[in-house]
Amino acid sequence: MTVGRLAPTPSGALHLGNALAFGAAWISVRNAGGKLLLRMEDLDRGRAREAVAQGQREDLRWLGLQWDEEVLCQSQRSYSLEGIPTWRCACSRAQRLSGACRCKEHPPEHGNWRFDPPPGEVVFEDRAWGTQRVLPPEGPILQRADGEAAYPLAVVVDDHLDGVTEVVRGADLLEATALQILLHRTLRQPPPSWLHVPLLLGPDGKKLSKSEGSMGIRQLREAGWSPDRVWALLLPLIGCEPPLERARMEPGPHWHRIWRVEEGANGPLLHPFGPIFGLDRKTSLPQPPPTDSIVRF
Ligand SMILES: [Zn+2]
Repeated sequence: MTVGRLAPTPSGALHLGNALAFGAAWISVRNAGGKLLLRMEDLDRGRAREAVAQGQREDLRWLGLQWDEEVLCQSQRSYSLEGIPTWRCACSRAQRLSGACRCKEHPPEHGNWRFDPPPGEVVFEDRAWGTQRVLPPEGPILQRADGEAAYPLAVVVDDHLDGVTEVVRGADLLEATALQILLHRTLRQPPPSWLHVPLLLGPDGKKLSKSEGSMGIRQLREAGWSPDRVWALLLPLIGCEPPLERARMEPGPHWHRIWRVEEGANGPLLHPFGPIFGLDRKTSLPQPPPTDSIVRF
């Protein structure tokens, strides 16, 4: 059974770029008749605010992106380094980059646990971008000095525990996939399949999370946008026809009549979102259709 996940980090409000990636994940799972999980990636408890997390869940519901089971939270799990070759390092980034680190020869009593990846590049298939060859980072941190798991460890353990078979997310994580695949291999667990959705940029050319302007889902909602209008704007970017008439975007036996996933040259399974190929990894946000209630971007 296909299992996908929505995995927001509760560090800020959801914006249109999040909606595009989550919408793609939703469509991919519903297309396969699978199960969609919601997992809050709230490891960084300092930044993770319950109110933010709640707001994100409200936005997801408003968008019609319903998940299938109880919400999972990384902050309620524990993560072990067992079975992963690691070494402890007390150096700053600058020290390491200058080659001054001698922690492998002289292990410190305190410090971050780093992963010793096997040499060479990682080759993997992305359902949108095709074959990727990525050199993983050298000595990435898996567990911080205070015992807190770092994101790459947590996400790999979680995806395995949750039975996730496909990851659909923003293209800003395309390169990070190499390290995650290496960790899956080290733990002798099959990695999921990957599909990275193009990032949307604001009119100032910055990622939406860092862009000035009102592209938050909540702001659009308060400005009188409907979920349909959001999807009519976003879905053509990933090759889906926006619906003409639709109350809510809910899973059900008729969804495939509403949502048409275009086929790529090699068939729908390999390339479910054909037109994604024509886009740069970062694509500019199209202007919304002109109406009276237009929100100023
Ligand atoms: Zn060191």
